[in-house]
Order: sequence, then C-alpha cells, then structure tokens
Amino acid sequence: MSPVHSVAVFCGSRPGHGPAQLEAAAALGAGLAKAGMRLIYGGGGVGLMGAVAAAAMAGGGSVVGVIPEFLMRWEVANRDVTELIVTDSMHSRKRRMFDLADAFVCFSGGLGTLDETFEIITWRQLKLHDKPILITDIDGAARPLVALLDAVVAHGFAPPDARHLYEVIEGVPATLARLKVLATARGAASVRL
Ligand code: AMP
Repeated sequence: MSPVHSVAVFCGSRPGHGPAQLEAAAALGAGLAKAGMRLIYGGGGVGLMGAVAAAAMAGGGSVVGVIPEFLMRWEVANRDVTELIVTDSMHSRKRRMFDLADAFVCFSGGLGTLDETFEIITWRQLKLHDKPILITDIDGAARPLVALLDAVVAHGFAPPDARHLYEVIEGVPATLARLKVLATARGAASVRL
C-alpha cells in the first residue's frame, strides 16, 4: 500500500482577480498542513503558488518547492519552505515534482498550470502512473477546462473512460476530504516513466 503522504499542487503564479482564489489557495495549504500531508509545488513565492506555500508553512506543514534555475528570479523563488530543490530545466522540475508526489491537485492557474494538468492526465492515460488527479474548481475557474475535456470525449478523440483519469471536485473542503480518503484507502501507485 502506498498512501497519500505528499500532494503536488499545480496552481497559478498570478493571484487571479479578487480575493477568492488567494483565499482558497491559502485554505488548501493550511488544510494540507493540518492533515499532515507534505506539499510539493513549483517553488515560487508569488500568486497562488506563494499563497498555498505560505499557508502550509504557517500551519506547521512540510513544503518542498521545485523550481528551475532560470525561473528563480522571475517567479521570486520562495526560500521560506522546508526544502527548495533547484533543477536545471522545466522538464527535470516536472519529473521531480512527479516523483515526489503521491497525488496531484490541479488548482486554478494560467497556461503553466494547464500544461502541468494536461501532462499529468496524459501520463496517466498512457499508464505511466496511477496516482490520483483532482481538478479543484474554485468559483467556476475550472469549468471551461472540464468542458474541454468532455468535448474531447464527445468528439471521439478520447474514450469515455478518459473521464476516470481525473476527478473534478468543487472547492477546497471537498478536495481535502477526498485526499484524506485517498490517504487511507489508496493502493500502490505504479510508476513507469
Ligand atoms: P501559470 O499557471 O502560467 O501561472 O504557471 C504556473 C506554474 O507553471 C509556474 O511555476 C510556471 O513556471 C509553470 N509553467 C509555466 N509554463 C510551463 C510549462 N510549459 N510547463 C510546465 N510548467 C510551466
């Protein structure tokens, strides 16, 4: 059995409009810390990334940031984490985050977050792993993504069971509740990257 101890959160390096997304990111970080789950994230100190990490640290949690060297300045590398891993490329960053995580939360974010979300879903489609993927919707921000995934199935470009590659969860409390269930019920994840 390989329970969920470490959760990778993919989220925006920008805060989005209004306070709701930042508040939700902070609630997620605080909730992970309270649940004793280690946060794996992109290592930035700005936007939703910074909020989730700061809240997890403030809650006494363990936080691992994984950032490529060239982004250290751009994304204002967050040194206030338990561990900051600096990689030599985006590809090694993604690989490292993947290796460290038992589950993935695809949160609100921009193009980088979408890229990370699609990659982790396609890796699961290719049976390279069997780790849970939760798409967390905050204030409808994930609805177009979910609609796009549904449209791909509706047009016959993915099989209907592609919908089982990920779970769509409304809000942070339900996401944390689902992670807790996965932490106790989860079987071994196969990893063949
Ligand atoms: P964004 O959602 O665009 O704010 O980016 C969120 C995170 O994804 C940031 O840490 C970015 O460095 C990262 N990111 C941006 N572009 C990519 C990409 N092509 N592949 C993987 N990660 C990316």
